[in-house]
Amino acid sequence: ANLLDAFAASNPASRECFDIHARYLPGANSRSVLFYAPFPLTMARGEGAVLWDLDGHRYDDFIAEYTAGVYGHSAPEIRAAVIEAMEGGISLTGHNLREGRLAQLICERFAQIERVRFTNSGTEANLMAITAALHFTGRRRIVVFSGGYHGGVLGFGAQPAPTTVPFDFLVLPYNDEAAARAAFAREGPDIAAVLVEPMLGASGCIPGRPAFLQALRTLATDAGALLIVDEVMTSRLAPHGLAAQHGIRPDLTTLGKYIGGGMPFGAFGGRADIMALFDPRSGPLAHSGTFNNNVVTMAAGHAGLTRLFPPEAAAALAARGAALRDRLNARCAAAGVALQFTGIGSVMNAHFAAGEVRRPEDLAAVDARLRQLFFFHLLAQGIYASPRGFIVLSLPLDDDAIARLEQAVGDFLARFAALL
Ligand code: PLP
Repeated sequence: ANLLDAFAASNPASRECFDIHARYLPGANSRSVLFYAPFPLTMARGEGAVLWDLDGHRYDDFIAEYTAGVYGHSAPEIRAAVIEAMEGGISLTGHNLREGRLAQLICERFAQIERVRFTNSGTEANLMAITAALHFTGRRRIVVFSGGYHGGVLGFGAQPAPTTVPFDFLVLPYNDEAAARAAFAREGPDIAAVLVEPMLGASGCIPGRPAFLQALRTLATDAGALLIVDEVMTSRLAPHGLAAQHGIRPDLTTLGKYIGGGMPFGAFGGRADIMALFDPRSGPLAHSGTFNNNVVTMAAGHAGLTRLFPPEAAAALAARGAALRDRLNARCAAAGVALQFTGIGSVMNAHFAAGEVRRPEDLAAVDARLRQLFFFHLLAQGIYASPRGFIVLSLPLDDDAIARLEQAVGDFLARFAALL
């Protein structure tokens, strides 16, 4: 209660902004994930890995646009690319050079992607990949996993997302090979595809076990179904994406977030024979979208991948994140509290739970008030992590910022250990 009172008292401008905007936007926003009670901060400005809110407070940005912000808020290389693209005309209403260049880069970096097409979001990319699988196999059913999040209309977690799209989903428990085997034994001939995140992101950075992911590959192949790996969040976690790291070759892969350089972005791609469905010279499927090949995204994405985030940089950032997670977990273990940080590389999530977290159901008993306490404690220390405990590193985040996070977590443990 003290933390909440202090938060409300020190953020009058954010509160006023929220009250005014709520007259026009339900909940004063267009992104449910950004809301928290009593009102969310309104951010005024960002630079590098720092954010300032409307009341002038400074925060180390540990959300980094839910992984899309790997480049931070003002990378000169991205700005220069965007400006150069805009000077040549924003919307060219035609095929353009930048589109092909970014496609080539993506196909070269992610070997399983032989052909790729662009969208404006990860949600659209997944919808298109599912559509491709239905047409390619002539089947109806899509296997997804409880806690999986594939976009605004493709969420299978506890928080109801409007999964009103006209697909026939079969929702299985995550990291459960036996359940997957049973489902394929029962319904294999009806299954068009398995759609899986190699690490559940929105449901708390729960890594898929290698044996589970490999079993999905085998089951899909044996049943004549496609494996679609949603790497919208995870492609940054290893030089060539997480599927490659596990030695798995998906039939289709979906991408998004940082690959557009911080601009709206999504992509789906994979086997050339499947993607040929979208070849207007021969394939039956149309795939349109006014801004799919917009020059700003294409330019920003290319600059980011080539100049700031080549495969070596992805590996280095992942190593930094893994080391941080190890240190945070060591602190929690030393304090003997039921708090742990799950995740892979530079993307992690705090969980107030002891024992292995294999699937979101393992977190059902967590007291949401602890999450809230952690969030407002970090905020009061100038650390912007997400209300659900999501913590992400970006390239411009320096060692001092990481030290401040560790200090804030240490303070939390010292102050509140008795509650954990
Ligand atoms: N898939 C995963 C794994 C995601 O994490 C997200 C976004 O958080 C999406 C898909 C949807 O991407 P977008 O928000 O660009 O529609």
